[in-house]
Amino acid sequence: MPNAPQRMHELSEETRATVDDVLDYARRRALYEDVPLDKPLTPRDLSRLAPRTITADGIGSRRAIALWENVLAPACVTTDHPGYLSFIPSAPSKAAIAFDLVVSASAIYGGSWIEGSGAVFAENEVLHWLAREFGLPEGAGGVFMQGGTIGNLSALVTARDAARRRQREAGRTAPDRWVVVCSAEAHSSIASAAAVMDVDVAVARPGGDGRLRGDAVEAVLDAHGDAVFAVVATAGTTNFGIVDDIASIADVTETRDVWLHVDGAYGLAAMLVEHMRPVFAGVERADSLIVDPHKWLFAPFDACALLYRRPALALAAHTQRAEYLDTITDSADWNPSDLGIQLTRRARGLPLWFSLATYGTEEYRSAIAAGIDLARRIADEITARDGFTLVRDPQLSVVVFRRDGWTLEDYRAWSDRLLEDQRGFVVPSSHDGEPVLRFAIISPMTTFETLTGILDTLR
Ligand SMILES: *Cc1c(COP(=O)(O)O)cnc(C)c1O
Repeated sequence: MPNAPQRMHELSEETRATVDDVLDYARRRALYEDVPLDKPLTPRDLSRLAPRTITADGIGSRRAIALWENVLAPACVTTDHPGYLSFIPSAPSKAAIAFDLVVSASAIYGGSWIEGSGAVFAENEVLHWLAREFGLPEGAGGVFMQGGTIGNLSALVTARDAARRRQREAGRTAPDRWVVVCSAEAHSSIASAAAVMDVDVAVARPGGDGRLRGDAVEAVLDAHGDAVFAVVATAGTTNFGIVDDIASIADVTETRDVWLHVDGAYGLAAMLVEHMRPVFAGVERADSLIVDPHKWLFAPFDACALLYRRPALALAAHTQRAEYLDTITDSADWNPSDLGIQLTRRARGLPLWFSLATYGTEEYRSAIAAGIDLARRIADEITARDGFTLVRDPQLSVVVFRRDGWTLEDYRAWSDRLLEDQRGFVVPSSHDGEPVLRFAIISPMTTFETLTGILDTLR
């Protein structure tokens, strides 16, 4: 049969069968009763099991989807499995998962108002709700970016741009090297952003409890003066879930007139829980902040909500200018692409919008509260068990502990066995040069019994 050029697009029997097969699989997958944990295979095994899928004439959707379902998908660890407790797990709500398919099916350009106004409006409803929850003033706004790394980078680029402008307006000369200040416990993406921006990182020392405070920031600002364009506070460190003393840091940044960025990629979601709000005091004074919906806001990969107190400063730093974009840049419309490092943009905030619209905000608050509560309970259980040591009281939903006497090799062998048995995915981490184990709890489907079951295997 000659290859008609419309084959990929026309509404033929073949096309209908392909779409049905894919949606059937997606439906099955989204509604699995016992979602498999699965595990990685080697490149060698995969080439043997799924050889030559890219051919001149195609292998057909039936074969391709079968290979995906039977070989390739089982070679991907399921990050929303209740026993997935490494790194930061994901646990998208069923509504968010389903709506992600709608975003995919709709060919929406989320970068500009003129093309995506309905999508951008819905995303902004979510961003404005978050801004109010975090106490930002009216006029705050932002954009959903790919992830926290890009969100942090975009915010810091805005901060440096604002500092440069002010320096120029004041007739001062620019420093030889710009400096960003953050805690020794800050996420690696801050150092990565600094490397991309070719600026220096000055590390401020957190207290013995891991929290960065204003006095430590002040000491670093004294040493670097006008070269500092931003201070980054962390609202929930990735390894321990520690929240910096943001209010005391804001006291310092306000006095010195330095940009305050809050990295809340993982932890800031906990501010949605009423009794946790005091932990985050000071967030309302941030110039910019991020929180990742794909972490603790139950949205699928990949999404970071980036918010600015004064979005105009982000427009000034990020708007791309080109003749073919004139229609867009000459208008006063809200164009999400202009607020961060991107142009073409998936409307990646829509799954969260749909899920929030479906279930309401109270459901979110209680799902996050359940994670915090479970972390507390399992920390008490670890403290009570012989042969276990809790490394630090959990502030959010990360629990770090030791099996007394175990070496890194012991942890690794145990961790491999746990995954091999398809019980859980818990990889060793380290603290102060010492190997530790870490439960990061996100999914409301992770129960006390899931965790004690895993603890029981540590022998
Ligand atoms: C996960 C995380 C990041 C990076 O976010 P990505 O979405 O993985 O790029 C940044 N900061 C903190 C505190 C994080 O937990």
